[in-house]
Amino acid sequence: MDKQLDLTRLKGVGPKLREQLQRLNIHSLADLMFHLPFRYEDRSRIQMIGSLQHQQPAVIQGEVRSADVLFGKRRSLLVKIADHSGVLSIRFYHFNAAQKSQFRRGALVRCYGEARRGASGLELYHPEYQLLETSLDDLPEPQLTPVYPTTEGISQQRIRLLMEQALEWLAANNIPLDDLLPLDWLQQWGLPSLKQALLFLHRPPREVELAEMASGHHPAQRRLILEELLAHQLSMQRLRSKLQQQGAPAIQDTWTLHNALLEQLPFTPTRAQQRVTVDIVTDLSQPLPMLRLIQGDVGSGKTLVAALAACHVLEADFQVALMAPTEILAEQHFQNLSGWFEPLGIHCGWLAGKTKGKARVAALESIASGQARLIVGTHALFQDEVQFHRLGLVIVDEQHRFGVHQRLALKEKGNLGGLSPHQLIMTATPIPRTLAMSAYADLDTSIIDELPPGRTPITTVAVSDQRREEVIQRVDNACREQAQAYWVCTLIEESEALQCQAAENTAAELAEQLSHLRIGLVHGRMKTSEKAAIMAAFKAHELDLLVATTVIEVGVDVPNASLMVIENPERLGLAQLHQLRGRVGRGSLASHCVLLYKAPLSLTSKQRLQVMRESQDGFYIAEQDLMLRGPGEVLGTRQTGLQMLRVADLQRDAELLPQVREMATQLWQQHPERVEPLILRWLGDAERYAAV
Ligand code: ADP
Ligand code: MG
Repeated sequence: MDKQLDLTRLKGVGPKLREQLQRLNIHSLADLMFHLPFRYEDRSRIQMIGSLQHQQPAVIQGEVRSADVLFGKRRSLLVKIADHSGVLSIRFYHFNAAQKSQFRRGALVRCYGEARRGASGLELYHPEYQLLETSLDDLPEPQLTPVYPTTEGISQQRIRLLMEQALEWLAANNIPLDDLLPLDWLQQWGLPSLKQALLFLHRPPREVELAEMASGHHPAQRRLILEELLAHQLSMQRLRSKLQQQGAPAIQDTWTLHNALLEQLPFTPTRAQQRVTVDIVTDLSQPLPMLRLIQGDVGSGKTLVAALAACHVLEADFQVALMAPTEILAEQHFQNLSGWFEPLGIHCGWLAGKTKGKARVAALESIASGQARLIVGTHALFQDEVQFHRLGLVIVDEQHRFGVHQRLALKEKGNLGGLSPHQLIMTATPIPRTLAMSAYADLDTSIIDELPPGRTPITTVAVSDQRREEVIQRVDNACREQAQAYWVCTLIEESEALQCQAAENTAAELAEQLSHLRIGLVHGRMKTSEKAAIMAAFKAHELDLLVATTVIEVGVDVPNASLMVIENPERLGLAQLHQLRGRVGRGSLASHCVLLYKAPLSLTSKQRLQVMRESQDGFYIAEQDLMLRGPGEVLGTRQTGLQMLRVADLQRDAELLPQVREMATQLWQQHPERVEPLILRWLGDAERYAAV
């Protein structure tokens, strides 16, 4: 690392803070400069208390009239503050004695917070505040106040102070913040230089409208948005072209295995499955690596398409690897696929993270020797020690769980004398077109836009948890009529431990109330073998009710299950709800989904549950989700390289994408030496990761 850019040059940054900053992806002073505010507050004017309105953020200033500790439902400190226009209460639920004594009668206080209607008229809850010596004491802030993304242990105030120093440093130095966009582009579009743009965005003058900043249309923002989108575009183009330079085995075969597989099946492929299979076979016949994304709604039959693709590659005597994001799903694929392929003389292998000891050694050996021809597993297949004999095709199911770049890691594993394996990516999360254009700019896309015949529609209802008893009754009724049911427990906490605990509690509660039912439990902390045993028992109808965490979200296929209860659906994304719900409606029974929510619901939550009730179309649901929540959430934070978008917002800035593509072409032609630094600047880590 360049000494000059070391973070410890800033006052107050020691090893500990440096480590915390790294969690925000800030490794140098330059990174710090690109850590941009995600919104602004206007604290430049003091507002009269008398003119405050509900839900309005504002700075107010006044004299303390009283400060009392109240013992209501929750202990709180209530301070009354007055200016000449009125009186306002500020309330603290967390406070100490020192704080209380600060607010002595007559003291002058300035607060920043959002006014809310409370028990005693308008109140500010936990405002930021400061006690002033005189009313002339440091005037309100001369700029808009930036609000930065932050993490545990680093306060907003801390980041602002660091930024203060960093900005001074930037004002005095240029290096290494070179302008990577050609000067003539900037002039042509009336955009500021990089340095001007950064200085502006960290400290916009108070004259700038908050609304303009929120719209993302200010030239300083535009300038960075374009640069960021360009960097992503370049990165994906580069990955693709690197891959395509390698070439791939052109697969020629007689469709013998393909036809043999179809003959065994109790059904025929849908037209959509056939069409997509033809797309794939055409790609496979080329001497270039296929990079194809298959989008198909839950239950559209992606597994069959994957199996048919595998047939061609297997017949040409290459291995096929299929990777799934969870063990349950991988296990299920293994069951299905070995059921289809073993009778045809194709040996299937299995490798998961939990495959240990002798089993692991044996698995690795049969993969390396080529004895295992179709290998199913989890991301364990990525590991260094896994060496394939002749890997011709990699299939990744439910791609959105893996990083956009991560899947490319398998490309080195082919052992094909410089050739790359083909890649097929399958996802049930429908990706709205604008997002697909940038998130998957490096992929060709096919869509399975038809469900197999004979599916029954799912009736979805939203029920408040005050009616939990009725819902339990309903589960009972369904099971008595020989149907099976899922009860899905969710928790807002990221903690898997808590999730599993919740599921255990619910299972115990249901077992007590429905003691005549056979109830099983699966969650992420159980051993693979335990999970597999429970799933198998449920599939065989040895269990009536399966209580589960969201581990069953993808791929689980039990046609006799026709009722699903989802607890706290308001905490899940619509795409995830749609996935979960897709576990029912797979057989001939009329199916139902009960969204058992915690009342009261916010307006957005209501709208979102409404979308689930009115539609079963994954694409429609995804579009609605995008409208209600924005793209970051739709794709999830860990899901794609887009998580790293710092200034751009794909939905808001979608109109820029054609221009960005044009810019990318021009930059390759006119300034190829700038491609690398641009990618490093915006995607540093992800790219390093992708290079594994
Ligand atoms: P998904 O696209 O969600 O992965 P699956 O591949 O798990 O869907 O298929 C869901 C169910 O539909 C499976 O039981 C599968 O055997 C069945 N299926 C797939 N294709 C057809 C078809 N053409 N006709 C009838 N059933 C099919
Ligand atoms: Mg599937």
